[in-house]
Amino acid sequence: MSVSFWFEQLGGMPTPRPPLEGRVEADVCVVGGGYTGLWTAYELRRTDPSLEVVVLEREVAGFGASGRNGGWVLGVVSGSRAGWIERGGREGALALERAIHATVDEVARVVEAEGIDCDFVKGGTLVVAQSELELDRLRAQHADDVALGLGEEDSVLLDGAALAGRVHIRGGVGGLFSPHCARVQPAKLVRGLAEGVERNGAAIYEQTPVLGIEPGRAWCSAGEVRARWIVRATEAYTANLPGLRRVLAPVNSAMIATEPLPAAAWQEIGWAGCETMLDGRRLYTYMQRTADGRIALGGRGVPYLYGSRTAREEAPPPETVEGLRRRLVDLFGEAADVGVAGAWQGVLGVSRTWRPSVGVDKARGLAWAGGYAGDGVAASNLAGRTLRDLLVGADTELTRLPWVGPPERAWEPEPLRYAGIHAVHKLMRAADRAEGRTGRPSRLGDVAATISGRGH
Ligand SMILES: Cc1cc2nc3c(=O)[nH]c(=O)nc-3n(C[C@H](O)[C@H](O)[C@H](O)COP(=O)(O)OP(=O)(O)OC[C@H]3O[C@@H](n4cnc5c(N)ncnc54)[C@H](O)[C@@H]3O)c2cc1C
Repeated sequence: MSVSFWFEQLGGMPTPRPPLEGRVEADVCVVGGGYTGLWTAYELRRTDPSLEVVVLEREVAGFGASGRNGGWVLGVVSGSRAGWIERGGREGALALERAIHATVDEVARVVEAEGIDCDFVKGGTLVVAQSELELDRLRAQHADDVALGLGEEDSVLLDGAALAGRVHIRGGVGGLFSPHCARVQPAKLVRGLAEGVERNGAAIYEQTPVLGIEPGRAWCSAGEVRARWIVRATEAYTANLPGLRRVLAPVNSAMIATEPLPAAAWQEIGWAGCETMLDGRRLYTYMQRTADGRIALGGRGVPYLYGSRTAREEAPPPETVEGLRRRLVDLFGEAADVGVAGAWQGVLGVSRTWRPSVGVDKARGLAWAGGYAGDGVAASNLAGRTLRDLLVGADTELTRLPWVGPPERAWEPEPLRYAGIHAVHKLMRAADRAEGRTGRPSRLGDVAATISGRGH
């Protein structure tokens, strides 16, 4: 069974590469074959082809979030802007923002150079407002962009007419557009990237669950890798490694893909620019128009499983699927009332502050990157290039970005972690309901955003 419709489109889950057996010596051992691990391996080999680089993947490359996501190559690093300013100053926050904007074109460059056929289209991204309240929030976000030093080339407020020029949203009153985003078919990207990693001389072992990591060594049931550097690139699955249960919470996101919409429906909806799209709610829905004329959209399902369990291979519950389908009609009207071709879910890694981090412990030869929350497709490329510089000992603009440093603070132990994440989810849901009813901002949503550390 495929873990996502994206893999379904590729003909199902791929035949795994052989597992690791016996002992292998390397310079760098990367644990995890998603975007983070693969970009890191790719960048290291491109920079220094004499480095022996080995990737160990529990299932197959792309099994995790990298083969299941919404396909937004988004020029955003998660976490509240206030949090980044606190961490890196205004200059550091702006440098991080510029670096992640540039990453969208960097991904495009490699996709082109490696001939990765992944439906890449850079159409930007659009947040749509269906009420004055939602539009007010976008105005505040735009003002915040300007205050940081971003310009019209980064963030454009749209009125109802300008929005309708791009896409017809039921009751759409405006939007916020940024050019810094591309759409991809995510499984095609991760599988193509894995092939690029191998072409550039790194080895990938699949069906190889790593049981433990220590300085100089990563081991599994049938073998081990001895290396100067061990890189942890296990994102939401980090919780399964000994001693790391509270580093990143595996938070769920669920998606559906529709059957292709008829040409007449697309005429009604517009959306010719293939912008990725977000609605204006607190518990938001994210969407893309696929290369073959479907809408793939996602949102939060059952938010978190007790004890940081990560198994999300079965389809999401019927009420989650139905909720997403209804949202589609709320946004696009009857034109989008078509069948659901696939439904799936996955886990994303969320740090206690909602900020990702990239780090090395030089003395022990350990490195890691992750905690991107829902914004890891582009950020994992920036992280991979940053890890490359850190591991080869280069002092660059990337290694001075404010996300480089120790991991964010740990999550609370259970049952607090479960109670906290579910409470925030319920508050957000209640805030959306209250705001839909009254048209006024709900305090509940602000409380939830503040206690989760996610920001507004
Ligand atoms: C439904 C969904 C929608 C999303 N939409 C978007 C989006 O549109 N845009 C965006 O920017 N981000 C999105 N994200 C987040 C994004 O997909 C992730 O941030 C990104 O894929 C993280 O890549 P990664 O390589 O760090 O982690 P993963 O892709 O999760 O890779 C980790 C890998 O490590 C392997 N692994 C784990 N433990 C071990 C072990 N012990 N031994 C060996 N291997 C191990 C796993 O099998 C997995 O393949 C979404 C996530 C989900 C779940």
